[in-house]
Amino acid sequence: MKIVPVACLKDNYAYLVCEDSGACAIVDPSEAGPVLAAVKAHGVKPTAIWNTHHHYDHVGGNEELAKELGISDVYGHASDRGRIPGQTKFLEEGDRFTLGAASVGILHIPGHTLGAVAYVLTTAGAVFTGDTLFVAGCGRLFEGTPEMMFVSLAKLAALPDETRVYCGHEYTEANLRFAREIEPDSTAILGAIASARAAREHGEPTVPSRIADEKRINPFVRAKTVAELADRRSRKDNFKG
Ligand SMILES: [Zn+2]
Repeated sequence: MKIVPVACLKDNYAYLVCEDSGACAIVDPSEAGPVLAAVKAHGVKPTAIWNTHHHYDHVGGNEELAKELGISDVYGHASDRGRIPGQTKFLEEGDRFTLGAASVGILHIPGHTLGAVAYVLTTAGAVFTGDTLFVAGCGRLFEGTPEMMFVSLAKLAALPDETRVYCGHEYTEANLRFAREIEPDSTAILGAIASARAAREHGEPTVPSRIADEKRINPFVRAKTVAELADRRSRKDNFKG
């Protein structure tokens, strides 16, 4: 299994997910141009688009890519019907489908939006979390409640520790500045700050993280109650670190 981050727009990541047999999917194409360039550079033939949620910076390239590459399978949550351009597959919690020989599981993870989903590759040990779980952060609560986000993050945190986390934005350094504000003495957070800085200085993405890392550094995954998560989320919304 090969997973290639594709930098799009200002700080978005789309991904190419290519299984050993050659079966390939595109995750969250914000825009078609960089994704088409990556498809060409890697010589792959994607047959599906997996959208984590309906926001424009995750689905903006859907229609052009479907047309250019002849893709007919465009996945998203059932409740995003009418909000995801070109959607043909309407997912619910617990659905499974395949990418070549790989099994893909669906978790419904509302909070950032009501129709947010995660795509879990169990055998490869990877999860695509969109704007719900970021490296060291979580998405803003545009449509859902703190309680929904609390449950959704707990669902993701219950995945195996080694599961690699591929999220929708490169927000890691700003997220870690907030994490340090919450837990100033955490050596795990200080270590993550140094690693993220080194990666960005070399022009590299900070994805993937691992579920085990998120349990150590992510102030939202680490929130013990809904109230604590809600408090941290509203502080982060106003954080100027
Ligand atoms: Zn979003």
